[in-house]
Amino acid sequence: MASDDPAANAGQVLRIALPVPLPRLFDYLSPSGALPEVGCRVRVPFGRRELVGVVAGHGTGADAPDGLKQVLANLDDTPLLAGELLASLRWLARYTHAPLGEVLATALPGPLRHGEPLPDIRRRGWQLTADGRGALASMRAGRPRILATALAAGAVDEALLAARLEGWRGAARALERRGLAEAVILEGSPAAPGGVDGPPPNPDQLAAIEAITTAAGFAPFLLDGVTGSGKTEVYLHAIAGCLARGRQALVLVPEIGLTPQLLARFRTRLGVPVHVLHSGLADGERARTWAAALSGQARVVVGTRSAVFLPLPEAGLVVVDEEHDSSFKQLDGIRYHARDFALYRARSLGVPVVLGSATPSLESLANAQGGRYRHLRLHQRAGGARPPAVRVVDVRKRPLQAGLSPELLDAVQRELDAGGQVLVFRNRRGYAPVLLCHDCGWSACCARCSSEERGTPMTVHAAGRRLQCHHCGARRPAPGACPDCGGLGLQPQGAGTERIEEVLQERFAGQRVVRIDRGSTRQRDGLEKRLAEFGDAPGILVGTQMLAKGHDLPNLTLVAVVGIDEGLFSADFRAPEKLAQLLIQVAGRAGRAAKAGRVLLQTHHPDHPLLATLLQGGYHAFADQELELRAAAGFPPFAHLALMRAEAKQVADCDGFLRAARERIEQVAGEELELSGPLPAPMPRRAGYQRTQLLLSSPGRPALHAALHAALPAIHALPEARKVRWSLDVDPVDLY
Ligand code: ADP
Ligand code: ZN
Ligand code: ZN
Repeated sequence: MASDDPAANAGQVLRIALPVPLPRLFDYLSPSGALPEVGCRVRVPFGRRELVGVVAGHGTGADAPDGLKQVLANLDDTPLLAGELLASLRWLARYTHAPLGEVLATALPGPLRHGEPLPDIRRRGWQLTADGRGALASMRAGRPRILATALAAGAVDEALLAARLEGWRGAARALERRGLAEAVILEGSPAAPGGVDGPPPNPDQLAAIEAITTAAGFAPFLLDGVTGSGKTEVYLHAIAGCLARGRQALVLVPEIGLTPQLLARFRTRLGVPVHVLHSGLADGERARTWAAALSGQARVVVGTRSAVFLPLPEAGLVVVDEEHDSSFKQLDGIRYHARDFALYRARSLGVPVVLGSATPSLESLANAQGGRYRHLRLHQRAGGARPPAVRVVDVRKRPLQAGLSPELLDAVQRELDAGGQVLVFRNRRGYAPVLLCHDCGWSACCARCSSEERGTPMTVHAAGRRLQCHHCGARRPAPGACPDCGGLGLQPQGAGTERIEEVLQERFAGQRVVRIDRGSTRQRDGLEKRLAEFGDAPGILVGTQMLAKGHDLPNLTLVAVVGIDEGLFSADFRAPEKLAQLLIQVAGRAGRAAKAGRVLLQTHHPDHPLLATLLQGGYHAFADQELELRAAAGFPPFAHLALMRAEAKQVADCDGFLRAARERIEQVAGEELELSGPLPAPMPRRAGYQRTQLLLSSPGRPALHAALHAALPAIHALPEARKVRWSLDVDPVDLY
């Protein structure tokens, strides 16, 4: 195909994957010079724009019709995407039925996606010149002298200077101007504190470590153990084993789990630099981590969802911590599931993959029960911590203050008196979920998210002064009088975290009450900062599910859970699983250290089967029961779903498109595939758009994918498709 004569390559056809929502590749003519290999990025003209795409294949001269445009520039000498990563991304494009170009664009960090060269990741440092060494003794006091002293023993890494010496760069510039110091490129890996030993593993941990480190090739494990049972210790041992074999390790964690505490623990224990990748990093940093993984310089990377796209040329282990966490699923664009793609990649890379959780997803439990994953259980809390005792508080007919019962308030008082810390968990931020007119029944609804049939209440904030829609973000001041009847009887109904905070502050005057939710904690590390400030002294935390994880709180001895009743009756088939996981995770916050913990669970439904099973039998009893229900109802993991969503100003346009799509699918589908819809989405209107959906369900994956594969080209071409925004979500996590 490729010719040695550069001129001969001009005019050769290249098949390019471009980041546009069309399910196909685009043909261009190769520029003169070396023929760009598959996986190289190229810049091409596209309509009136220029785009960066990736060479996905080479065409033959025969399929070069006249009039093909020519590639403007080849951006890579060697392919940026190659080998296992490129092959896995091709698979992901087929699996999500998304254009390859969009998948590749999702996988690359911003600067690389936009055509910038791989960043230079050689380490830079500073050293004294001969003049500098001579001048050191006679230098005046000040930053330059402090820096010069730090460099006296030899070159120092910029990263180290940044960590240790405030204002070092200005000082370095000053020394450089006087010819006393110079920048240098450092060879080899940076020095890291040599790995520190952890506690000796207990027998359960030893068995898990042994199983993982002796696995040959692809081997999936489910590491199943309550919070504090020592899962992270198992990861650390397995990673150390992987490093000892000269291999790279990738660790995926949920956004909220990537705490400074966790990184510090990894860094001190492993004795190698630990690279990170998360959404809070600047683009340039993300590109540097990508380049470090590609070059093999990064031996351990800890990252959130998108870290699953890192190149791992020397992979030895993949870990997915809190594998049940829904933040691993991307909800827009390419709707991939990082846990599932991590499994696919581990298989392609031929390495073990460890999925860890205190509350494994029903999918993973079913895989373990079916023998597809090896089930490793850690039965006890490590280090002697005891599990928390759970008490259900029946609040029927009890007088409630912001939803809090007298029993709960008394328990809080006792805990504070004993010098403990309390967490009041309410998974609803704001002051109150609804503003209601007591005179006529009117309630404040979002104009952009309500339909004639169904109003979407706006949440009351700022002690009743402001209304905010949690679905579209709309805000407005709360009215002073009812817009319908003019009455003054407007009352906030129910209680969110703000109102609970207010009531607790009043009742426990003089005590510290700290609220933590998305309203109070905007910055990325805001949660960590606030928890660190909270410290060990007695006090009360009020918050949402943000508090289910993060920073360890060894003095937290009482967790009070309120307002879970609405979650017991949700229509979403995954709601019980999510609620059970959340309850177990929040309860696991109590008593992590030497002190025993207690959990109070307030409910109007003390006999609800979910609560009864969860409290008597624990998460696994709940999961077994729930899996039976899923099997009987034909829900995942016993069926495979895909959800086609459509949005438009007119509901007729949504339905028109989905009806036409349904017809196309029916033309190619076998018996196995079930279609339901078009039906209104659970939230039928949002931000001014009508929303409907078509659900595809099949007991086997192949039938589902074959039908989609056959029908999608025609669906893309439907004239009705131009009137809507539509998307396809394979393995949807929630049906909204
Ligand atoms: P998990 O990841 O399951 O929540 P960790 O690995 O973080 O659990 O362990 C919880 C706590 O128990 C940590 O403080 C850890 O240092 C400690 N720990 C873990 N394994 C042991 C062990 N075998 N002996 C003593 N302490 C341990
Ligand atoms: Zn009214
Ligand atoms: Zn809204």
